[in-house]
Amino acid sequence: MRDIRTPPRWKDPEIQHQVDIALLEDDAAQIEADEARRKIVPLLSRLHRGSVLFPGSQGYRYSVWVRNLRYSLKRPAAVVHAVTAWDVVATVRFCVQERLKLTIRSGGHSNAAHCLNDNGIVLDMRMLNKVVIHPNEDILYVSGGALWSDVYRELHDKDPRLIVVGGQCPTVGVSGFLLGGGISPFSRSYGLGIDSIEAIEIVKANGELDIVSAENHPDLFWALRGGGGGNFGVATGFFLKVHTLNHPEGMVTCGTLGWSVGDMKSRKKFIDTMINWDQTPLPPALCGDALWRYRRDRETKEKRLWAEITIMYNGGKNDCDSELAKVLRGEPDVNTLKEMNFYDWEVGGEAFANHSQVHQHHSSVIIEKGRMTEHVVNFITDWMVSKKEHELESENGGCHVLWDHIGQQTSQKKPDETAFPWRTGEYALSMKASWSNEEKENEMVAEVQRLRDELTKYAIGGKAAYVNFIDDTLTGWWDAYYDTNYERLRQLKKIYDPEDFFEFQQSIRKPRSDHPEIHTVPSRSVAAHKGELDEKNDFLQDDTTQIEKPFSQDAPAESVSDLGCGSLQSGRCSAMSLKRYILGLFARLKS
Ligand SMILES: Cc1cc2nc3c(=O)[nH]c(=O)nc-3n(C[C@H](O)[C@H](O)[C@H](O)COP(=O)(O)OP(=O)(O)OC[C@H]3O[C@@H](n4cnc5c(N)ncnc54)[C@H](O)[C@@H]3O)c2cc1C
Repeated sequence: MRDIRTPPRWKDPEIQHQVDIALLEDDAAQIEADEARRKIVPLLSRLHRGSVLFPGSQGYRYSVWVRNLRYSLKRPAAVVHAVTAWDVVATVRFCVQERLKLTIRSGGHSNAAHCLNDNGIVLDMRMLNKVVIHPNEDILYVSGGALWSDVYRELHDKDPRLIVVGGQCPTVGVSGFLLGGGISPFSRSYGLGIDSIEAIEIVKANGELDIVSAENHPDLFWALRGGGGGNFGVATGFFLKVHTLNHPEGMVTCGTLGWSVGDMKSRKKFIDTMINWDQTPLPPALCGDALWRYRRDRETKEKRLWAEITIMYNGGKNDCDSELAKVLRGEPDVNTLKEMNFYDWEVGGEAFANHSQVHQHHSSVIIEKGRMTEHVVNFITDWMVSKKEHELESENGGCHVLWDHIGQQTSQKKPDETAFPWRTGEYALSMKASWSNEEKENEMVAEVQRLRDELTKYAIGGKAAYVNFIDDTLTGWWDAYYDTNYERLRQLKKIYDPEDFFEFQQSIRKPRSDHPEIHTVPSRSVAAHKGELDEKNDFLQDDTTQIEKPFSQDAPAESVSDLGCGSLQSGRCSAMSLKRYILGLFARLKS
């Protein structure tokens, strides 16, 4: 079994706090890098324990490497590896003061690499990955750079019956996931990820660290729940409600039901099941995510189109089977349902590689129950059939269509109760095309667009899309992601980020600032990437020489006096004082 313990982080935080510089081979690049360095190096003395990394260094490459090759041209001037919230405070203040662009990176799963930028600073949050469970086990603190694997491991060690509303993919970042809404296999049982947020610790555009909750800045709390990552500040921590699974021993029933839809009989059974699924009332405990993809047959090695439903039932197998009996039309070709512990499912599941070597394009729509018609299911299946040639000719490329099953508890809130507006949705569909031959870019983007155009006719309001499945070619994205909540988000932007400091291609803009033209990022040839790819694949093992600059112990560390957190005010925090700080915040939240 694959271990989903925290994936390798760049370095041990204890040996952080240095400038990581490497010499560049290209003279022009070196001059540009030197200039940026002169401006940015002073940031180091303001950091608490973090590092500043420049182009050419391994730590820099670690942070700018994203899974979608379409965005590998993005070149920030420097990267900051934050180790504490103080590093975040210092970086935000420095960038505001020096008028430097800043974007935030956690899990790096943004489909359009909105975590990166050109010529600014990328704040890599992945060292901030603490998870602390309150002694009563009803609330959990997770630092803003954690991945879901960090959280699930901690919960599992404590008590396998405990669960939070987190991502199915263990390498997705907690922050990006939660700030955009957060669709989980447990969303039908407990709501979206944002519905379980008690409070958010955030560094705002004015450089203050603050706790935002229903009591403290309720308007900002509203915006952060669904407004999308990177818009209103840097989240350094979340306080999340912990839920207890239905089964007395914390078991769930999960696995795959699969139909080989190249076969007309199987295709008919699948389509009948889907239509029945859509028309039958289903309990909150049952979540079924549909997935169309090509799989290689183990024996014949041939690629075949499969339509699958990934089941996550919050309860035992007998109950699950009787619920499924109401919707299944005939036996699927494959049924791997098993009762197991959720953590074992995560450990044994397929994590989507963050370091893939393909160009990708994604889009999405959100559809209500009753709209998953025969035409929709047939259209998706035929679209996938039409991709067979592409699938066969490209080893790394391919296409898939996936819908995440929501509804039930996700629809308990009104569309304007949080910034996520699509509360009546039942299926959040994402469609993806990937290719390794860059000449295919226009064709593949157009193909995803063709599918999206058709499915949009069935989307809520003829437009609904999911901000977490971000699509940088979407015209009218603000309307598609936020609907009528957009106007309120803009007003709040004016209050909390009046200078549009947190800005990227699809960021929320304060009123009167124009939306920019939507550009797509040109691809570089795969050959041009080759050297980089090989290098990147090796970089975690390879530890080249760095020029170290020791942290000046006299440098004034930033402190956050408005929180009044005694032990942290000195600007130095040990693991113990961090724990005390978090427990103190728990106490305040609960009082
Ligand atoms: C394989 C895969 C599986 C997925 N599964 C799901 C799923 O099951 N459910 C679901 O809802 N979504 C899912 N998503 C979408 C995912 O939730 C979004 O892409 C999310 O934005 C990723 O967050 P991240 O931190 O990993 O990415 P990043 O690229 O690091 O960040 C995404 C955005 O959030 C901003 N951001 C990151 N960290 C912070 C922070 N600390 N404070 C403020 N802003 C920040 C970034 O600047 C960027 O704009 C999936 C995506 C992938 C690629």
